[in-house]
Amino acid sequence: MKIEKLPKIFDSARPILQQLEKAGYEAYFVGGCVRDTLLGDKIHDIDIATSAYPEEVKSIFKRTVDTGIEHGTVMVLANNQGYEITTFRTESGYQDYRRPDKVTFVRSLKEDLKRRDFTINALAMKENGEVIDEFDGLSDLKNHLIRAVGYPDTRFHEDALRMMRAVRFASRLDFKIDAQTVQGIADNAALLSKIAVERTQVEMQKLLLGQNVSAGLAVMLKTGLYQYCPALKDYKNELSQLALSNHWPLDNATQAWSCLIVAMYLPEKEITSFLRRWKLSNKLIADVKKVVPAVNSIKRRSFTREQMFATGQQGLYDANRVATIFNWNMLQSELDSAYQYLPIKDSKQLAINGADLLKAQIVKPGPAVGKLLQELLTNVLYGKLPNNHEKLMEYAQERSHE
Ligand code: ATP
Ligand code: MG
Repeated sequence: MKIEKLPKIFDSARPILQQLEKAGYEAYFVGGCVRDTLLGDKIHDIDIATSAYPEEVKSIFKRTVDTGIEHGTVMVLANNQGYEITTFRTESGYQDYRRPDKVTFVRSLKEDLKRRDFTINALAMKENGEVIDEFDGLSDLKNHLIRAVGYPDTRFHEDALRMMRAVRFASRLDFKIDAQTVQGIADNAALLSKIAVERTQVEMQKLLLGQNVSAGLAVMLKTGLYQYCPALKDYKNELSQLALSNHWPLDNATQAWSCLIVAMYLPEKEITSFLRRWKLSNKLIADVKKVVPAVNSIKRRSFTREQMFATGQQGLYDANRVATIFNWNMLQSELDSAYQYLPIKDSKQLAINGADLLKAQIVKPGPAVGKLLQELLTNVLYGKLPNNHEKLMEYAQERSHE
């Protein structure tokens, strides 16, 4: 089959393929960009595969960078952009269930497509839009089916991360996973423990941000794959409950992980250790620690002003979006107007700071400074004190004499 009109994003990359062809090599767009073009979805990145060996690619283009030359990837710089070009390759060895012991460059496209995970990811496309489909990926795409290329058992043994990729694509694309592929996951789920948590985390987050999280979770539950993810083992019922929701998709990582934590009824003091086990960043942990309590406040319809202030506008938005998953949400406009009602939105807006208190010798350096500032802030938030420098200094003076 041939796609007559390629999306604009391919325009600037087509001449690169043409140049490789002119030099006598084969060159194709491969992987996700072909799949997403056929689905009419947004294209994230363009991957190019070629029969030219890395040194040959480098001799054809003026400006290149060796980004991953040992795996066959060279970046070609053109039109102020970088294009990753990877030599057709086969992989062998996989003794550790996660990466090949050996990568061999080959001249055959089919060999390259064979090492790819799922049939819908094993499509290639010429620069003129002609699609090469060696493994029936087009009919799987039409039938909304995720199916391993070759024997699922072998493929999951080679690289156990592919099981997480299967469930994330089920969620992201809202596709079913073919029965034999599901069986392959059930039989090999335990191998996921061999995979670095960082890689499992990436797939889990993509799953949680997909169109049909419930579909991805359902397969994780059915196959037992969830048991080999960090800290999910004892939460079968909670995850099953979450899989009943149909208010997807969420729109950012904070919402994604907050949603998982709320579903698990994890006590607030366990949030940090849970997210650390997933090797998430300190920034994300800090955001989730604001959002999760706010989801619970939305559920109870009770917010203190301090909490609303501490959560911030984005945090409140994220919390209400997460609350939607559980049907606990408030009207966003109600939440927004409650927030707008706060006299100040940021501690920098408080008309007094620690330095003022120290300079006037109202408090001694140490924890007393923060404590007094917090008290002033709370009074301002509740309208008990105006946000006025003199008035706040006066109050602080009085407190210090008590
Ligand atoms: P996304 O839109 O999320 O980037 P993608 O399909 O492009 O989806 P990538 O992780 O960018 O996914 O990988 C690009 C391609 O490389 C895939 O489409 C697939 O052909 C191949 N691939 C990636 N990871 C694996 C893997 N673990 N095993 C086999 N093939 C893989
Ligand atoms: Mg990609």
